[in-house]
Amino acid sequence: KIRVRYAPSPTGHLHIGNARTALFNYLFARHNKGTMVLRIEDTDQKRNVEGGSKSQMENLHWLGIDWDEGPDVGGEYGPYRQSERKDIYNKYIQQLLDEGKAYYSYTTSEELEAQREEQRAMGIAPHYTYEYEGMTADEIKQAQAAAEAKGLKPVVRIHIPERRTYAWDDMVKGHVSFESDTIGGDFVIQKRDGMPTYNFAVVIDDHLMEITHVLRGDDHVANTPKQLVVYEAFNWTPPKFAHMTLIINAATGKKLSKRDESVLQFIEQYRDLGYLPDAMFNFITLLGWSPVGESELFGRKELIKLFDPKRLSKSPAAFDKKKLEWVNNQYVKNADRDTLLDLSLNNLQEAGLVEQDPNPEKMEWIRQLVNIYSVQMSYTKQIVDLGRIFFEEEPKLTEAELDEIKNDDARPVIEEFKKQLSQVPRFTAVQAMNAIMATRAATGVKGRKLFMPIRIAATRSMIGPGIGEAIELMGKERVMHHLELTLT
Ligand code: GLU
Repeated sequence: KIRVRYAPSPTGHLHIGNARTALFNYLFARHNKGTMVLRIEDTDQKRNVEGGSKSQMENLHWLGIDWDEGPDVGGEYGPYRQSERKDIYNKYIQQLLDEGKAYYSYTTSEELEAQREEQRAMGIAPHYTYEYEGMTADEIKQAQAAAEAKGLKPVVRIHIPERRTYAWDDMVKGHVSFESDTIGGDFVIQKRDGMPTYNFAVVIDDHLMEITHVLRGDDHVANTPKQLVVYEAFNWTPPKFAHMTLIINAATGKKLSKRDESVLQFIEQYRDLGYLPDAMFNFITLLGWSPVGESELFGRKELIKLFDPKRLSKSPAAFDKKKLEWVNNQYVKNADRDTLLDLSLNNLQEAGLVEQDPNPEKMEWIRQLVNIYSVQMSYTKQIVDLGRIFFEEEPKLTEAELDEIKNDDARPVIEEFKKQLSQVPRFTAVQAMNAIMATRAATGVKGRKLFMPIRIAATRSMIGPGIGEAIELMGKERVMHHLELTLT
């Protein structure tokens, strides 16, 4: 039975790359009717962020990813927080020490740094060199006792067997192999503070939790040979590995890094802007994976049905902002109206444009506003900008808009339209269109030269929803005010 895990370190909010890892594990588990495990990797106390795991879980839930075992839901393989599994790790560390496969190491960080410095100067890859080289068991004991007497605290390192090849058949990368002398020397499995290192804890947990497949980011490829050393030391069979290609920013061609400010990278940020979870789920799934065919829009159930790790991409996944906006716009256009209204109302209130408890009439008006703009929106916060002409006292015109109306042809059109509109019996979309037709008849101007000046003068914007609908929703007072403002 397939068991996979998503194993975040609670170092901050849910990054888009991590969300993708979680999502692929989720799809793989659900497709195969397997089990999805959530494990919190919080052994690096310096990097843990207060509330980090809670925020991760909330954002996963928002995306619609759930798990069968984890710190919040429990399960037979717990505990699911590494910080609560210290006794388990200690037991296995002791086993390796007893078997002579691991040892106490007293080389200090300063000594290590000096070693690396020297190695770099000699042009060789920095690595740890065995500190007890050529010593007998007794000499080692003496050296360790001397270090203890100096008050030094040891780490535990694992022996990497010499002249060995550590290889695996990666579900994405194919055959990958590392020679044992390229791994960087015997590595630490227990830190000075008594905590296990990531490369050790992850193996113990994946083994004890009976994980069958490890789907994770490309950045872990160099960790895998170390983990294989640990599997070998215990004589355990490793799971299957899939290392997903990195994500690059399509605009720059560079690896998407947290420092890149040209794209939002945390799920939370998308959530705050009123992006829809279904759309984000769809978009993120297509970062480095694609089904057969050309289609790009898929619901969750469909993705679960279609997901096949064989179709994970071997080349970097491009994070394309335009595609993000396009996918999201497709979902907004078809979204449930009440959901859109709720989210937009929130955005409008945060922007101070709508009061806390709008009366039913105002609510209905906001509903209309959201309706007429939904075709254009990728996320609901855009309503604040798009709808500004409905809220600002005197919306400013852009250079391009001024060009369209400050000319001899436009003025008579606007004046005539103002006259026609002031005479309509009711201020509705249909009547507004009638007034435009009457303006055409009276001035003989048609097409863009007719519509554009009217649109800009009446709504104070050259882009927007249908002109008739916009005028009706703006109401007589505001539209008349706009027309006068434009004519003065
Ligand atoms: N805690 C690791 C990370 O956040 C998980 C790596 C793994 O999946 O093995 O990158």
